[in-house]
Amino acid sequence: MTDITQPVEPRIESISATVQDYLLLIYILERDQEPVVGSHLADLLGVTPPTVTNTLKRMVRDGWLTMDGRGTHLTTEGLNAAKVIMRRHMLMEWMMEKTLPWSQLHAEAHHLEHAISASAEKALMEQLNNPQNCPHGNPLPGYEQQVAGWVPLTRVEAGKTALIRRIHELAEENNELLTYLESRNLVPGKQVTVCEVLPFNETICVEVGGQQVTLGNAAARYIFVETTQPLI
Ligand SMILES: [Zn+2]
Ligand SMILES: [Zn+2]
Repeated sequence: MTDITQPVEPRIESISATVQDYLLLIYILERDQEPVVGSHLADLLGVTPPTVTNTLKRMVRDGWLTMDGRGTHLTTEGLNAAKVIMRRHMLMEWMMEKTLPWSQLHAEAHHLEHAISASAEKALMEQLNNPQNCPHGNPLPGYEQQVAGWVPLTRVEAGKTALIRRIHELAEENNELLTYLESRNLVPGKQVTVCEVLPFNETICVEVGGQQVTLGNAAARYIFVETTQPLI
């Protein structure tokens, strides 16, 4: 007899870590309405386009994805699995939050997210008071509206002050960037003032905690801020 008290467990444990990573990345890109094409995935994953193509084909075969002329899309099952993996990843980040530096939470959670069960996930959600964002400010699945009003730092003009709310998931993958941001206090909850924007140089200079920091736009566009002042 089936024990109906057991939570429904998607077949997460049987998915390889590689496929889980692809599911997460495709979920993030689809959520942000970015194109999900092989070359872009190859860039983001740091692998060759043929490797991506092979993995995507396997994922189509296994029912996680569909592919058409415009790119790749998660099936309902793929989307559900991605949401579970994302939620577990974020809960693992919170679980480590008091133990590890902020810049190491993502990498550590990445190892742990594959191992956690549905019942542990449920218990953690309750213990952590149902968080809506991860420690980097990214939304747990279902709470995307929470971050909708935050804009990339690159959209704030010189002289304006803003509150850092979120470091985008794609930047979480970059350990050196996270370490740099943490060392400069460019983390959620900190106030920044934009001192200079240099479009020709693709850099932005901000002041945080009395110190000036120069950032390339490639990094600054992943820092989302809340501002009550008009934007550019
Ligand atoms: Zn993360
Ligand atoms: Zn995070």
